[in-house]
Amino acid sequence: MKLLYIDLDGVVADFVSAMNSHPSRNQPPYDLDPDTIPGLFRNLEPIKDAIASVNKLLNSDKYEVYILSTAPWNNPSAWTDKRLWIEEQFGDKINRKLILTHRKDLVKGDILIDDRPNNGAKDFEGQWLQYGSEIYPDWNSILKYLL
Ligand SMILES: [Mg+2]
Repeated sequence: MKLLYIDLDGVVADFVSAMNSHPSRNQPPYDLDPDTIPGLFRNLEPIKDAIASVNKLLNSDKYEVYILSTAPWNNPSAWTDKRLWIEEQFGDKINRKLILTHRKDLVKGDILIDDRPNNGAKDFEGQWLQYGSEIYPDWNSILKYLL
């Protein structure tokens, strides 16, 4: 089994839409740091096809799957929100499968699906599949490659 890590924001959860439509988005102090809005990460819409695709990977015997995400340091509720959100989406299959870190390059594994190079993603020791790139524009292209 290969160790497969999946980023949350921009890959499974649509953080940008929730942030931009939030009523506090343009009010100080959140206008400068919108990702510190309390509770922002609790009610995100899933990215298209993401939930069904991650479920396929969770049920596959080719991969051991973990969520590998970064929560904003100055938004402590985000750390809890992410834990609750993935349970809501995936149920008990995701139990103890969440890693929150600012250093994805320190995590051991084979494959990382991430939309951005940030927080160590570009230096991940295994293979980085960049979600949203020309080669992997959507979940269909990712699944086609992985399964
Ligand atoms: Mg991301």
